[in-house]
Amino acid sequence: DVALYGAKAAGRGRFRLYREGMVMADTNPYALMKDLEGAIGGGQFELHYQPIFSLTDDRQTGYEALLRWKHPERGMIPPDHFIPLAEECGQILELGKWVIERACRDAATMEPALSVAINVSPLQLKSMEIVDVLRRSLERHGLEPKRIEIEITETAGISSAEVIAVLKAMRKLGLSISVDDFGTGYSSLSYLTMLPVNKLKIDRSFVHDLENRHECRALIAGIVHTATSLNLKTVAEGVEDEVQLNLLKMCGCNFAQGYHLGKPRPLSANAGIRHLSKAG
Ligand code: C2E
Ligand code: MG
Ligand code: MG
Ligand code: MG
Repeated sequence: DVALYGAKAAGRGRFRLYREGMVMADTNPYALMKDLEGAIGGGQFELHYQPIFSLTDDRQTGYEALLRWKHPERGMIPPDHFIPLAEECGQILELGKWVIERACRDAATMEPALSVAINVSPLQLKSMEIVDVLRRSLERHGLEPKRIEIEITETAGISSAEVIAVLKAMRKLGLSISVDDFGTGYSSLSYLTMLPVNKLKIDRSFVHDLENRHECRALIAGIVHTATSLNLKTVAEGVEDEVQLNLLKMCGCNFAQGYHLGKPRPLSANAGIRHLSKAG
């Protein structure tokens, strides 16, 4: 329930919050939930963009859009703290539409070679409405569908008939689909044979222990191998140093993102296509 979500979120977010200089008081989740109601209308949300690079030629291929809540009294609140609340109270549907529209608007201002990855909540995948929202945003901003990628997470309902139908409609529209935090969710791998996905994003917990734990290296090599045989690409998340980067290249991973390569920043701070050697 709400209290539980709040506690879980607070635990998970603390480290990142420090690293990104975000402020978060011990807040009653009910109070935050109430504040969420007026937050979209109040213009309190913004998207930050973290660069993603190809490990084949070291060039930037796009960005991941990451939602930020600039709370008028509490400062910047990270998504792990408020997405679960927005899901709990149903606000996630409206918020999710805002994210799609803003990400498409922003993508249209970027270099045409760059794509933007949008995170969606499992709740948004239960209805075809998201497909119309995506189609309208693409049209409004004259954006080619291949410029947008949709990030989904492994959840219990991921291989339900409704979700599969929505994902197929997205693919038909020309969008690409990635499985986020791959390897950490509840699911049997069989969903990979049923879902029309294009990429697996290797969770940063595996990348984090890459240097010190042989098991993690074996696991990542295994994920890359599985992906390759299923004709999927791999993206490593949470790359924090050069050693990890080189090990990921050795494993055959296709793409990478992480603080070592570039932190999430507001749109205005991102200019042009970057190269790994000039990243930071
Ligand atoms: P995610 O989709 O797995 O996004 C990656 C998270 O890892 C981001 O956290 C990013 O800032 C962080 N990160 C990137 N590089 C590093 C690194 O080198 N080290 C570490 N420790 N962390 C790194 P963020 O922005 O706090 O977002 C957390 C989660 O919130 C996201 O995880 C995603 O699941 C969710 N989220 C973010 N934006 C949205 C959104 O617009 N809609 C929905 N439904 N969920 C969102
Ligand atoms: Mg993501
Ligand atoms: Mg992730
Ligand atoms: Mg995540």
